[in-house]
Amino acid sequence: MTASSSTLKTHYEELFIDGNWIKPTSALDDVISPVTEAVVGKAPVGDLNDADRAIAAARRAFDRGSWPNEKRAVRADHMQRLLDSVIARKEEAIGLMQLEMGFTRMQCEMQFELGFTQITKFIELARKDPMKSLPLLQKNYPDGRRTLGGAVVTRDPIGLVVAITPYNSGFLLGLMKSVPAMAAGNTVVLKPSPFTPLQTMFIAELVAALELPPGVFNVVTGGLEVGQKLTTDPRVDMISFTGSDTVGAMVMAQAAPTLKKVHLELGGKSPLIIRHDADIELAVMAGLYGFVFQAGQGCSMTTRMLVDNRIRPTYAAALTEAVAALQVGDPYDSKTFMGPLIREVARARTEDFCRRALDEGAKLLLGGKRPVGLDKGFFFEPTIFDDVRNDSHLGQREVFGPIAAIIGFDRDEEAIQLANESDYGLGGAIISRDKATAFDMALRVRTGQIHINGGSGGFHPDMPFGGYKRSGLGREWGEEGFNEYSEIKAIGFPAG
Ligand code: NAD
Repeated sequence: MTASSSTLKTHYEELFIDGNWIKPTSALDDVISPVTEAVVGKAPVGDLNDADRAIAAARRAFDRGSWPNEKRAVRADHMQRLLDSVIARKEEAIGLMQLEMGFTRMQCEMQFELGFTQITKFIELARKDPMKSLPLLQKNYPDGRRTLGGAVVTRDPIGLVVAITPYNSGFLLGLMKSVPAMAAGNTVVLKPSPFTPLQTMFIAELVAALELPPGVFNVVTGGLEVGQKLTTDPRVDMISFTGSDTVGAMVMAQAAPTLKKVHLELGGKSPLIIRHDADIELAVMAGLYGFVFQAGQGCSMTTRMLVDNRIRPTYAAALTEAVAALQVGDPYDSKTFMGPLIREVARARTEDFCRRALDEGAKLLLGGKRPVGLDKGFFFEPTIFDDVRNDSHLGQREVFGPIAAIIGFDRDEEAIQLANESDYGLGGAIISRDKATAFDMALRVRTGQIHINGGSGGFHPDMPFGGYKRSGLGREWGEEGFNEYSEIKAIGFPAG
């Protein structure tokens, strides 16, 4: 099992703060490969002092720098140059993603493609004048006075945006938060997961080459302590956070005393509804991607499979057969479909889900243990449970590991009800030959996104992404996502 990491920069000693590479006050930390458990890099660990320096720099750049008032086209041109360098250095980006996350190349390519699609969209939006004229207002007062008033609505940057990213998409989300934030005139402090700092240090390197005004973009690494500092400091105006719902709730509470804007992209337990008339092959593909992709480490994966009881045995058997044939192991082997989990703690949590599912009466069809022969790396077999109760632990909680929960239903109405009996509301999917019925059902499933028969084909640049309920607040992609990073300003004036 080898990572071709010789051409990658995997050793960083400095943080990017205030336009400079700065030695952190604390030590360097090892970056661990989830595939081999070996040390594959070094990165600085930021502390409170570094977080303070980054906040001070970003605050100064917003309050006294040129960036917020810079011409939109100039900011957009900078972001286009950043996108150009991302494309030019794609191999390094993919290499670091694979190294830190242990995903296959195809999975990293898909994250890259999504990032490219969205950043291109953000740059297009950043060039547009957001100002809109409102209808003229004519007033006749009792004293005979008459007025005619005009008004416009425009958008202002919010200020200092802190972006906090999870381990499963540090490069993608580091860019997908920083680019719209900067393009809209904000300044940014970006903090990655302590498991995957190198992808974000790489972003810092790309942004450093743009020579933006000092303090517009800053990177601080670190964990809980730094996260708490960034989300409580009164100088910060907005938090754009992606991670678990547990930490999301903490972030919201931490930000509350200073009333920051909080944008949360959190976890899910997304339903895949398979109707009685489904194309089984399509349903199996959706099911397989819904929990094996990235070893289940994706936020909107459809791990809760609601299957019409008339076809449930056929579907369960076909899914089991298809998944059993997949290669699990070294993600650098082009035949591998699924690599490891990120760390031992994630594998132990996945095992605990299996134990509890069996205790709660679910039927194990496949997997449920560590693969034989893969002694190094945090591997776990793709696992399928049938006869899962929707209200069980596995039916309700996000695993973030490769476990599918098959739950039966008898009527469409029941499928909708089960889909909505969840604390989450992020993604969803429906497989049915009857597209009109599927569309009616999609309208009633309470999730931020839902795809019928595989969706629109590729990443739709205008489709907003985000969740209802415990899956978050706000949206991340498209125009809605771009607009999260600005305040709305209305100006009224006498007309004529
Ligand atoms: P996590 O919640 O453990 O950590 C996310 C980030 O928060 C990390 O950078 C971490 O260091 C930081 N953090 C931890 N405690 C903090 C605190 N008190 N204050 C501020 N920051 C703090 O998530 P993870 O394990 O890295 O990622 C997996 C989770 O992310 C899953 O739940 C997944 O569904 C979710 N996710 C959601 C989306 C989405 O778009 N909705 C996308 C990817 C991942």
